[in-house]
Amino acid sequence: MRTLLVEDDRLLGEGVADGLSQAGFEVEHCMSGELARAALTAAPHALVVLDLGLPGMSGLELLRWLRGQQNPTPVLILTARDTLADKVQGLDLGADDYLVKPFELAELVARARALLRRSEGGSSPLLVHGRLELDTVAHRARFEAREVPLTGREFAILLELLRNTGKIMSRGELEERLYGWGQEIESNAVEVHIHHLRRKFWRGLIRTVRGVGYTIRREDA
Ligand code: CA
Repeated sequence: MRTLLVEDDRLLGEGVADGLSQAGFEVEHCMSGELARAALTAAPHALVVLDLGLPGMSGLELLRWLRGQQNPTPVLILTARDTLADKVQGLDLGADDYLVKPFELAELVARARALLRRSEGGSSPLLVHGRLELDTVAHRARFEAREVPLTGREFAILLELLRNTGKIMSRGELEERLYGWGQEIESNAVEVHIHHLRRKFWRGLIRTVRGVGYTIRREDA
């Protein structure tokens, strides 16, 4: 998730860059519109976080240039100027969202994630395994286009196994995801949930690898 941050305030820029990095974004920080234009020309980015008030080339000018290049990269505007005119102009020029300074870092990260999800197609990312679909945001499962009710723990186990398709997950790893540290675990809890999942979907969905753990295999879809 290569992200271009354009912010001329060094302290604020470093804070935002740190926050985004900790949230898993790979951040390139530019302090001027001209440098940002060069960075955007040099390599594709998944997201641009753009301050409007920049020395030299302004944020709005950079945005106009970017859209003029038919570049569809999602843009999140940061602005100190809490005026309707700036926001409207930014959105008219093709920005996807905006935040008014001062803002909470957590909100910036949440909005950045939402923009990435939208640009990747759909606000509910689906994990698909053959006729099985798992909506990882709405926490719902469908099989052959029918809704299948799952308990929270069944959903968590299925999600973990699907995210690791092809890998073997030990019972201990699955228990950790389910219960976290220090919680009392019934000794056969994972087996029971897996038994229910097989009945709700199909028997070969989850393989037992004797003495090692469980796995979902792509070829079993
Ligand atoms: Ca600024």
